[in-house]
Amino acid sequence: MMFPEARLYIDGKLRAAENGATYEDISPWTAAPIAKVADASVADMDEAIAAARRAFDTTDWPTNKALRREMVVKLGEKLRANRDRLAAYAHNEAGSALGTIAFPQVDGPLGFIDELLKMFDAIEWEKPMGERPAFGGMSQRTLVKEAAGVVGVITPWNVPFYINIGKVIPALLAGCTVIMKPAPDTPLLSTIFGEMAAEVGFPAGVLNVVTAADPVTLGEMLVTDKRVDLISFTGSATVGRRIMEKGAPTLKRLFLELGGKSALIVLEDLPNFAQAVCMGMVCYHAGQGCATLTRLLVPRSRYDEAVKILEAAYAGYQWGDPANPAHVMGPLISAKQRERVMAYIEAGKAEGARLIAGGNRATDKGPGFFVEPTFFVDVTNDMKIAREEIFGPVGVLIPFEDDEDAIRIANDSEYGLSGMVLSGDTERAMKIARRIRAGTIGVNFGASITVDLPFGGYKQSGIGKEWGMEGFDEYLETKAVAVGKFG
Ligand code: NAD
Repeated sequence: MMFPEARLYIDGKLRAAENGATYEDISPWTAAPIAKVADASVADMDEAIAAARRAFDTTDWPTNKALRREMVVKLGEKLRANRDRLAAYAHNEAGSALGTIAFPQVDGPLGFIDELLKMFDAIEWEKPMGERPAFGGMSQRTLVKEAAGVVGVITPWNVPFYINIGKVIPALLAGCTVIMKPAPDTPLLSTIFGEMAAEVGFPAGVLNVVTAADPVTLGEMLVTDKRVDLISFTGSATVGRRIMEKGAPTLKRLFLELGGKSALIVLEDLPNFAQAVCMGMVCYHAGQGCATLTRLLVPRSRYDEAVKILEAAYAGYQWGDPANPAHVMGPLISAKQRERVMAYIEAGKAEGARLIAGGNRATDKGPGFFVEPTFFVDVTNDMKIAREEIFGPVGVLIPFEDDEDAIRIANDSEYGLSGMVLSGDTERAMKIARRIRAGTIGVNFGASITVDLPFGGYKQSGIGKEWGMEGFDEYLETKAVAVGKFG
């Protein structure tokens, strides 16, 4: 299947790269091309940055809230009308199994647009701060929220549409102008924003979408260019560090959503112990989720039982059928990612962890980038597979002695993105949850990741928050205004 060629959207125009270059968008299911995509040059990115700067500095976009609302409402309507196309992209381009289309890939984020609009309506743009005497007179003070400026949005390939919505919609509503640079592996879930913006008549330069085969060069242009005020990035901690370094000379404002190695703590007092343990299977979207619970922590007293539960669950696990709406696991995004995941599996074996499921490339699912659902037991928290983000279908089981030990292991990580605590005693689980150093935590299957709650990491999982009212603050500045009443 081939989709129509994907074009750049720069300064209000949908167009090819200036030098006509294209690259192939590859399906993770088949390893075959599904679309030709514009491969932008440095000159194209330069034009996009200039257009976004111009739109911010010389049009009423940053100050005209009604216009912004109207444009985002229309963009949302267009995207919703293209729901099936988005689902086809998520499936064919991001390798999403059909069971993940509802959430997080397409329907969830489509529904979030209206909720973001309601949050926009609730922003307190001007906050009176009262009078205060100073220098022999009185000052009447107000805090004013204003757009942060030109935003470079750099996004990953795992849940691209979800993250594009989470960044682009609040940034536009805040009054910023945007240059979106998606991961090379998932261009179509971004270029559709340009196509829809063109159809609804966005003012030129307000939103720009620039795709390229090279993952680094054009993203670094955004980071180093002084015409860009803010970088909103989701991706790996490694690239996050690089962005900080490269952004330093222009003191770039940074919003970084990075990786995780989150713990699922299952306590011994659970009535539904087997269900809880199975939550630690790292299969959803083949483990390619930043907040995936990739370290399963169980009490030593029930460790052997947990191993048996996992062995049975993996033995019967059904996955990898592109047409089955119940499946939630498909391929990895690329051959490169598959090699990376296989290297972690080899590292786990070399460090003495014991495989109870998978461990190989899957060869019975077709020519795509498949790795078997894989699980290691007898893992210690100092092993590479327990410390580093694998971003593949690889889980690890670690025993703990008591609640204190569980907290210690969960927090013994460079990351701090998410987590879950499961217990028959909610108060006991809450005591543990309060001490986990992570930005988002579920207790007894509670869902902590959704549109109205801020999401973002502690420690090396990032800086800043996406979603919720806090998600808007990333794209706003606060100006203190004082009007003197002298004489
Ligand atoms: P990545 O860090 O390799 O790339 C992310 C984006 O950065 C891509 O668009 C890429 O082209 C671009 N990029 C790469 N090098 C760059 C550079 N030097 N300067 C500027 N941009 C550059 O990540 P990925 O492999 O696409 O995605 C997987 C990672 O994303 C995982 O680590 C995952 O945890 C993380 N992630 C985090 C969240 C979150 O909200 N915290 C959500 C989803 C994914």
